[in-house]
Amino acid sequence: MSFDQMGLKDDLLRGIYNYGFEKPSAIQQRAVMPIINGRDVIAQAQSGTGKTSMIALTVCQVVDTASREVQALILSPTRELASQTEKVIRTIGDFMNIQAHACIGGKSVGEDIRKLEHGVHVVSGTPGRVCDMIKRRTLRTRAIKLLILDESDEMLSRGFKDQIYDVYRHLPPELQVCLISATLPHEILEMTSKFMTDPIRILV
Ligand code: AMP
Repeated sequence: MSFDQMGLKDDLLRGIYNYGFEKPSAIQQRAVMPIINGRDVIAQAQSGTGKTSMIALTVCQVVDTASREVQALILSPTRELASQTEKVIRTIGDFMNIQAHACIGGKSVGEDIRKLEHGVHVVSGTPGRVCDMIKRRTLRTRAIKLLILDESDEMLSRGFKDQIYDVYRHLPPELQVCLISATLPHEILEMTSKFMTDPIRILV
């Protein structure tokens, strides 16, 4: 399958080709369409497979830029990964005018507040800072329709389990969830059964 056959928005396709991609990677071939079609997806994949761009292009496709509310939330285990994902979203989504913000520890809370109040479509962050911003009511969750949990096993081994559950409890009930993890230990499967409905499982 080519990017052209995925039914993506024209301005998103421009962003993908402009970024230098010609053909979707295996995970992009298998995960993008189900996520765009609204399915919950468990993707067992490691970094290097193109998972970050998979996240970026699905998020860009599902966001409605006419609204200024946060519609997609991505949680990652590290500040570096959260920033990298935000950067790829901004680059691929450049022609669509997607506003993305990295909500990560170590940066000033004031800047988070300014950016979030100005209005962003997508937040990519670490569980601690995202949880904090939700509790301050700076990050409004009512329009969030897609939650992506990236490197979930790594998030759990870094002790973020309680914060992930806390974030999840603040999200709307009609939520689509995509979970990416290199391994699927018991604690991850427990999360998938709590957060997800009839998920498709993809192994790459
Ligand atoms: P990731 O697993 O998302 O960290 O991606 C690993 C590397 O593959 C990054 O340098 C991406 O820019 C690159 N990449 C991802 N998807 C594609 C694609 N469809 N075509 C070419 N390169 C890609």
